[in-house]
Amino acid sequence: MNAYTFRIPQPEARRIEVDLQIEPRGAETLDVRLPVWTPGSYLVREHQRHVDGLRAQGDGRDLPVEKVDKQTWRVRPQGARTVRVSYRLHCFELTVRTNHVDGTHAFLNPSASAAFVVGRENEACSVRVQLPPEWRAWVALPFEDGAWKAQDYDELADSPFECGPLSSHSAHTFTAQGVEHELVVWGRGDFDALRVLPDLAKIVDGEAAVFGGLPYGERYLFILHLNDKGRGGLEHRRSCALVVPRFSFVQKSAYEDFLLLVAHEFFHLWNVKRIRPDALGPFDYTQENYTKLLWVAEGITDYYADVALRRAGLVTEEEFLTAAARSFQNLQNTPGRLVQSAEESSFDSWIKYYRQDENSINSQVSYYDKGAILGLLLDLQIRQRSHGSKSLDDVMRYLYTSFFKQNRNYTPADFQKTCELMAGSSLEEFFAKYVRGKDELDYNLALAAAGLRLETGATTTEGGKPVQKVFFGAELEQNEDRLMVGRVYAGSPAYEQGLNTGDQIVALNNMRVTADFFNARLAERKPGDLINLTIFRFDDLSTLLIKLGGRTEGTYKIVALPTQTELQKQIYRAWLGTRA
Ligand SMILES: [Zn+2]
Repeated sequence: MNAYTFRIPQPEARRIEVDLQIEPRGAETLDVRLPVWTPGSYLVREHQRHVDGLRAQGDGRDLPVEKVDKQTWRVRPQGARTVRVSYRLHCFELTVRTNHVDGTHAFLNPSASAAFVVGRENEACSVRVQLPPEWRAWVALPFEDGAWKAQDYDELADSPFECGPLSSHSAHTFTAQGVEHELVVWGRGDFDALRVLPDLAKIVDGEAAVFGGLPYGERYLFILHLNDKGRGGLEHRRSCALVVPRFSFVQKSAYEDFLLLVAHEFFHLWNVKRIRPDALGPFDYTQENYTKLLWVAEGITDYYADVALRRAGLVTEEEFLTAAARSFQNLQNTPGRLVQSAEESSFDSWIKYYRQDENSINSQVSYYDKGAILGLLLDLQIRQRSHGSKSLDDVMRYLYTSFFKQNRNYTPADFQKTCELMAGSSLEEFFAKYVRGKDELDYNLALAAAGLRLETGATTTEGGKPVQKVFFGAELEQNEDRLMVGRVYAGSPAYEQGLNTGDQIVALNNMRVTADFFNARLAERKPGDLINLTIFRFDDLSTLLIKLGGRTEGTYKIVALPTQTELQKQIYRAWLGTRA
């Protein structure tokens, strides 16, 4: 048994103290290590940079400790019967994958706070917490004899702790699928339990229906943090951590974003926590864990978040299709879609997705965004080829029963084969072009299965010629009285004619500019017109003459085909109709 104690004697200091009791069992040395990353968030974060004062004691005396690499401390027990390793941890990063402690709460991710003994990851763990008066703890682990119990380190690492007084939290429960679900909320805002709890239950019911029930028999914990800006979630096997802006529960689009986040994290219960891509579990906590499958693990989970809200009746068919069209348009406006494939994006998450910069839009595609679209296209392809008898649901169920239940992870080839099994024919071309390759997606081929097609919103003249709208190609940011250039899209007039991210635009045609002024003047121009920009690049003043471009597209829209077959109507209803 690896016995941990988390102590929070002074929460305002944003610090906790961690003790780990180990039985040396005759070992010459014990290597104690903290993970460099938190599963579910694919970036090496080097959590150990927040550790200080690590020391070891055996039978009451100090033992030698040597740091052997950035993440490992080597302890020499010198014959002691028990060893106690203790350290301090600075906790001031409010994200779902790190630790945050202040006077109102403590949110602790064991993957970022609980060091383990190398070679004993499979042994059971217990955690005691010593909290300030009036504080309590919420965690999805079983509680016995004054401690929370995890069957191994993986389970502990997967179980975040939320601690604090009820004066800064609200705790709620609801029953879905016959199981108690608990929601603990930290932070002030416009959270409304009467609105939220029934909608959470609908999401739980809808997603459980795909797999014929929940994968756990008792208690699930939602930890929800309300804050001033961030939005994020992290999935666990029996809980999830969510952070959203404080005022997310009244205004329609903000509330929908919250529900989508919940639906995404909850679907991960199956897709990634149980249906596991090749490299994701058991985890290597010391380095990157490479997989080409994040477009399935994250992207298809994102697709199912949209589907879950539709099936639960929380969005209308029109809203679902409008959101899909918007996601197609966002992808088409991302030059990086032609540079990086969905598999490459997944694999390089560790160095690219989580480290975005001004060039990301031009060199990357998001495995979330493209993966969700691939999920939609695959779902419709499978429905069409199987004449409406199979769908992506069958793919997920098969992966659950034939891989997770058989204690196997799946590979890219397994995923393709499963899709082909449900489609009843080869999908090699689809996977070669759109998953491993960077070809433009064929939205209309897929949409036709449900009697739909995509309109790109091009307006035409009476003679049927598309009307060109003026195109510049740079995002501008008004930074107090400075107009700064944000992202510049590869291939756009701004990009090709020398404008850079970080340039400050001081004048347009020798007139001082603000963002509003710039956009208003641009709207008066035609494709082919010249504009003269005066810019500061670092400290140097210069001018750029830019010839504006044109593009024909407007707002994307998914519309019904003029006539539809019975099969198209049937597929549409099965896909987007609510379930009674
Ligand atoms: Zn996710």
